[in-house]
Amino acid sequence: MKKLLCVLSVLCSFHSAHALDRQAFTFTDYDLKLKVTPATQSLEAEGKVTLRNDTAQPQRNPVLQISSTLAWNSIVIAGKPAQYLAEPYTSDIDHSGALSEAIITLPQPVPPQGTVEVEFSYSGKIPQDATRLTRIGVPAERAARSDWDQIGEAFTGVRGIGYVAWYPIATEAVSLSEGNQVFETAEAWKRRQAQAKFSAHVCAGEYAAQPPAQGLIANVTWGGGIGFTHIGPPSPPYTMCDVFVWKPLGPTVPTFAIGDYRSLNQAAMAIRYVAGHESYARGWATAGEKIAPFIAQWFGPRKQPVQIVELPDKDMAPFEAGSVLFTPLVRGEENDIQVVVAHQFAHASFQSPRLWIDEGLAHFAQALVREQQEGRAAALAYMDERLPPLQEAEKEFLSAAPGKVVDPPPQGQSLIEAGDEVFFRTKAMFVWWMLRDMVGDEALERAIRAYRPEQEKDASYLQRVLATQFHRDLEWFFDDWVYRDRGLPEFHITEVYPRKLIPEDWSVTVAVENSGEAGAEVPVAVRADQGEERKRLEVRAHEKASVRIPIPVVPKLAVVNDGSVPAFEMDNNSAEISTPEVSQ
Ligand SMILES: [Zn+2]
Repeated sequence: MKKLLCVLSVLCSFHSAHALDRQAFTFTDYDLKLKVTPATQSLEAEGKVTLRNDTAQPQRNPVLQISSTLAWNSIVIAGKPAQYLAEPYTSDIDHSGALSEAIITLPQPVPPQGTVEVEFSYSGKIPQDATRLTRIGVPAERAARSDWDQIGEAFTGVRGIGYVAWYPIATEAVSLSEGNQVFETAEAWKRRQAQAKFSAHVCAGEYAAQPPAQGLIANVTWGGGIGFTHIGPPSPPYTMCDVFVWKPLGPTVPTFAIGDYRSLNQAAMAIRYVAGHESYARGWATAGEKIAPFIAQWFGPRKQPVQIVELPDKDMAPFEAGSVLFTPLVRGEENDIQVVVAHQFAHASFQSPRLWIDEGLAHFAQALVREQQEGRAAALAYMDERLPPLQEAEKEFLSAAPGKVVDPPPQGQSLIEAGDEVFFRTKAMFVWWMLRDMVGDEALERAIRAYRPEQEKDASYLQRVLATQFHRDLEWFFDDWVYRDRGLPEFHITEVYPRKLIPEDWSVTVAVENSGEAGAEVPVAVRADQGEERKRLEVRAHEKASVRIPIPVVPKLAVVNDGSVPAFEMDNNSAEISTPEVSQ
């Protein structure tokens, strides 16, 4: 049933009268008071938000949106009840697939750059809800693993923008069936509100008796840590409260959790684990302490400890907000846990406002740890496992050739603008690995240290930082991999010439063709029964190049690409070497 509340009848004709600009205002200051009651899954909120008109025209109709399972109780402007129209607004920006939208009519228009303070109260429940996923066909069980947000007696975990509108936002409707719309809208919201100050006084209770939950946690960005209240033996009315401040909000999604949490604090890591899981937490802490020096060597000293908040169900999808990771703490092989936490250690040392740099380096750190554990082949195997979705995405983009009618038209994703995880995580990881192979560890480490996020203004900043360390032309590489999406390379060995030298040595010339649109510097190996020799070869898009590789034994096989360069086909890259009979 469509719920429609017309506070004043004149507002009911609003839609036909005006074009509504939901993005006219920037939210600059949140001041919230929340009461969370796990037993009834309910949330009561009151507070105020300051809105700034960032358009060139006076604005009269700010919009506030909250999750559709919450409802507006009041909106007040300058001490007087405001005129507003509240109605449901279908959008997948919220886990429930809809928002409760309030369209306010201000008594006076707000001039450009002017601000208005809006007071409000709203309430309702936040049950686990994956409607936005199930309605596009995701099986319920899988959907619930991803959209795990809820207020619940055993566990409360609620993420903000992109998951649950537990605080007011204002966005245009988005749909999960429209590519990356949801993700991109959430990212744009975060960028725009990055300077906002956000404060939430949160009380959890009132439990009937001693609460099952003893931890109230949020990923605050003030003071550089996780806010955490640990209540001792509580007395009636069994309520625990804390003030969480995100100042500024930055790229973080404000998230809070309530559960029976305990703390484990070590130099490099702070872990909030569910009571009874202390041995898991210790395992993670040990893994973290072991890799901490290695990550610091690559990415610089940690700016904050790595912070982990346990999700109580092992099937819940991990969620990262900067160096804070919400994740199930499974008991696993220590090597695997090291690879997982390496990601957050990289974030704790290095930050960039560009997603592909920020996330790409954190995934690159994971591959480096894998290499540290069991060598290059293990690292390449780790990366190779992540390659197929990237190959798919690039094929899809390239296969829609010009002239074909495709709806919607294909769009390549340059890393600079990538909003798809396959690009800003997987492809970016490979790009960092290729750069490292091209210039060596030391030069890349120096470049990472020289990088200043505050100077990240234009797209070519990183290339300039690297150029000062590498003394090498990287323009073509950035063109093919970073500034444009040219798909992936495709290598073939076209010719192999073995030549016998005196007395035992061989020299093998290997010619390689790249029929793809992206160039790369790729390893070429000549293998024998007793080992192999390798060299690196730059093969630009649609070009051929060759390399001469000396080897002191009879060569058997030539191989291009050890897996470090993501290509469309990874299994067609070798050629047998037939050597003339050797007469003594
Ligand atoms: Zn990350």
